Amino acid sequence: MSAKQDFYKVLGVSRDASAEEIKKAYRQMARKYHPDVNRDDPKAEDKFKEISDAYEVLSDPQKREVYDRFGPDAFDPTKNSGTGGFQGGFGGFDFDDLGGFGDLFDVIFGGASSGRRRRTGPQRGADREIRLEINFEDAVFGMEKEIELPRMEKCDVCKGSGAEPGSSVKTCPDCNGSGQTRTVQSTPFGRFESVKTCNRCRGEGRIIEKPCSECRGAGQVKRNRKIDVRIPAGIDSGSRLRIQGEGEVGLRGGGPGDLYITIVVKPHHSFKRDGYNLISTLEIDFVQASLGDEIEVPLLGGAAYNLSIPEGTQPGDIITVKNKGIPHLHSHRNGDLKVIVKVKIPKKLSKRQKELLKEFYSESDAKQNKKGFFEKFKDAMG
Ligand SMILES: [Zn+2]
Ligand SMILES: [Zn+2]
Repeated sequence: MSAKQDFYKVLGVSRDASAEEIKKAYRQMARKYHPDVNRDDPKAEDKFKEISDAYEVLSDPQKREVYDRFGPDAFDPTKNSGTGGFQGGFGGFDFDDLGGFGDLFDVIFGGASSGRRRRTGPQRGADREIRLEINFEDAVFGMEKEIELPRMEKCDVCKGSGAEPGSSVKTCPDCNGSGQTRTVQSTPFGRFESVKTCNRCRGEGRIIEKPCSECRGAGQVKRNRKIDVRIPAGIDSGSRLRIQGEGEVGLRGGGPGDLYITIVVKPHHSFKRDGYNLISTLEIDFVQASLGDEIEVPLLGGAAYNLSIPEGTQPGDIITVKNKGIPHLHSHRNGDLKVIVKVKIPKKLSKRQKELLKEFYSESDAKQNKKGFFEKFKDAMG
């Protein structure tokens, strides 16, 4: 995946596409490049990730604005920090990172003063985006899953103040607690006043005498947080779940952000998905195909089902088992199971089997057909 991807091109939409158009394009492409439908094409999975990445950015008005102004470099996926099965879906772009992002934020939301405001008032925590890979069965039947994600939380030792308990916190003498310093410059064109973030307290307005030994003065510590995720039955790759309040914690009394989970469903070794239908294949003997039979086939999840093969079943015929497919996400209906029949032709036959087949052949009209074909061929040759 290239960091220089044009997200609009990836989704095949114009730069002024509406949110609805972007959503529609994403859904179409996600279906097309779904790893389940493209198991033979190893590139499909990459493409699918590309589409998801593009959608993650373009579907969020704030991120889209950043993208429009700064291009794909602002979303460099090589900076992803992943833990276990999860990947930071939102690239190296961290809304909480005041260092790198502060500048962009200021450009977009109105200069240094907005930065100042963020430092004193309550600030809502950033949303988080992760990708969660689940098994095919779990997507079909739904599940409760506990995931563990690291996030920054208030330090218990200093209660978030960053100061070692018992030590004092002083108001910054350089800026008198405002977090900003003003300098006035006289130039031939007039007096210019500029406002800068205070160097001494880095805009905090206070100076910690002795930083907290637990968080080294940050007021926050990284903690693994266990989150219960309910995955609804019938969910498909590319679906996004929103878990309220499980994003990054807010600052100075601001509420937490939300957690968005993009689901990626792993392929199954014997079932595929087509919308809400399940597709499987069944190999039967040519005699079973000719005479018909009852065969026990496995359903997804392990139960057995007695499938009747009708007499005269042809290779490639599809036998539909109603209601044994995937539950619809928003209704109580179920898709169907579609069994594609493959017919085996034996490669080795016993002497007796050969005799029987020869006898069968002499009885059948296949011989007639063959004759007819040669007759027609000769006629055509004149
Ligand atoms: Zn602390
Ligand atoms: Zn200061």
